[in-house]
Amino acid sequence: MATPQPRANVSAIPAYVPGKPPTVRPGMTSYKLSSNENPYPPLPGVIAAAHEAVDRMNRYPDMGSSALYAALAERFGVPEEHLSVATGSVGLIYQLVQAFCDPGDEVVFAWRSFEAYPIAITAAAAVTVQVPVLPDGRHDLAAMAAAITDRTKVVMVCTPNNPTGPAVTQAELDAFLEKVPSQVLVVVDEAYVEFVRMDDAVDGIATYRAHSNVVVTRTFSKAYGLAGFRVGYAVAPGPIAAALRAVSLPFGVSAVAQAAAIASLDAEDELLERVNALVAERTRVGDGVRSAGWDLPEAQGNFVWFELGERTGDFALAADEAGIVVRPFAGEGCRVSIGEVEANDRLIALARSFAG
Ligand SMILES: *Cc1c(COP(=O)(O)O)cnc(C)c1O
Repeated sequence: MATPQPRANVSAIPAYVPGKPPTVRPGMTSYKLSSNENPYPPLPGVIAAAHEAVDRMNRYPDMGSSALYAALAERFGVPEEHLSVATGSVGLIYQLVQAFCDPGDEVVFAWRSFEAYPIAITAAAAVTVQVPVLPDGRHDLAAMAAAITDRTKVVMVCTPNNPTGPAVTQAELDAFLEKVPSQVLVVVDEAYVEFVRMDDAVDGIATYRAHSNVVVTRTFSKAYGLAGFRVGYAVAPGPIAAALRAVSLPFGVSAVAQAAAIASLDAEDELLERVNALVAERTRVGDGVRSAGWDLPEAQGNFVWFELGERTGDFALAADEAGIVVRPFAGEGCRVSIGEVEANDRLIALARSFAG
């Protein structure tokens, strides 16, 4: 008997491997360093704003997310019509591919990079074109430009790159954009932009202002600590933002998420102090791990990357035994989030014992 069949591309969608929760060990606190989450608990003001929204859960959220659009427009000095909010920047990536790619169209991106890219692209029946990162974990932007064909509709630039860590410089991005045909959409994924400490780093918002084919995606999940609430935003020229809104899930961003995001923008100074503390910890971890003999790529996000090849599984297991859960990519390496000071201490100790 015939049964309903999903489109052929559906079975080709790679599985998303979520970061594992920490293993519970008697007498030992375990830490989750596998999902690049913010280790700080939410601010009281953000919790209060979310609670207030909870009291109205019988009502649909504001479908236009109007207060959140107004807050973002003011914060970044952009017109509201140049914004599109969504259920995390993963939601935006799905919407971008859906709005700009017909089946068979190509999306160029670095690899390894964010694992949601091939999922979203394959789900839309578009074609993934992966360009290997350079040995130091940077995007090979020259090779990415060369990979653009007549079928290319979108190019993803992930800066800083998850999971390898380096960020793209403005000069590199400008040189790249000169080579990209104006009808190809360039997505600058700035999920970790708040953690970047480089003089010449990409300024996504300035880049969007200067180009009609550049969209910047950002998220409240990492620096702002709202990963559980699912809210991200895109900044893009009006027609691109309009296309993103057109394909968005009606009522996708919940009322609690909208309220918490607005409260987070209000509390930005306090949240960015926490980001500063995490950046200081990133430096401490990087120094500690390098002095143990490791060669790490430059870390500009809230995570570090260990290239381990065949030793990846062993490293992840040793980390687990030390009470820290990391994110292994089989045969390639482990990404480890910067977390609580104690968790970071354990990572440095692990790097010493594993290398020695
Ligand atoms: C975490 C992450 C995102 C977004 O996550 P959301 O929680 O969906 O906002 C986007 N891009 C990269 C590279 C990420 O690492």
